[in-house]
Amino acid sequence: MKPLSFTTAQLPAQKRIALVAHDHCKEFLLDWSECQRERLARHQLLATGTTGLLLSRRLDLPVECMLSGPLGGDQQLGARIAERRVDLLVFFWDPFEQQPHDPDIKALLRVAAVWNIPVACNESSADYLLSSPLLDVAHACRIPDYQQYLEARS
Ligand code: PGA
Repeated sequence: MKPLSFTTAQLPAQKRIALVAHDHCKEFLLDWSECQRERLARHQLLATGTTGLLLSRRLDLPVECMLSGPLGGDQQLGARIAERRVDLLVFFWDPFEQQPHDPDIKALLRVAAVWNIPVACNESSADYLLSSPLLDVAHACRIPDYQQYLEARS
């Protein structure tokens, strides 16, 4: 397969931040999100089902909820990423436990890598992401050039 060509996309100042936490990590995400509430409140939040419900209660902020992860929520987030409708992913996945939907998790992380989405997989990396000077400003980012991709195959 030929290497991908890239193009540039403009990211909005108000980011679309997707949040997911596996069951044993939910409390960490909730505590972290409380510390980051002020920053998170300036952006649009979306999440897998249970994570989203808990976050909206804890933060008293609107969170667009997908289905629960094991029922397809990770795939829904992956589709949003491929459609360029997610700008950042905070995903506290559990390194100690296999999940029934492991293939979906792998797919979500893969599609985030493909579309050059910043991903934080724990509290420290999430702190770095949310304190980035890029968080609150519009900026350019490199993404695969789909038009070129198609042309290379036709
Ligand atoms: P949940 O899904 O937020 O519905 O628990 C997360 C996941 O398991 O991927």
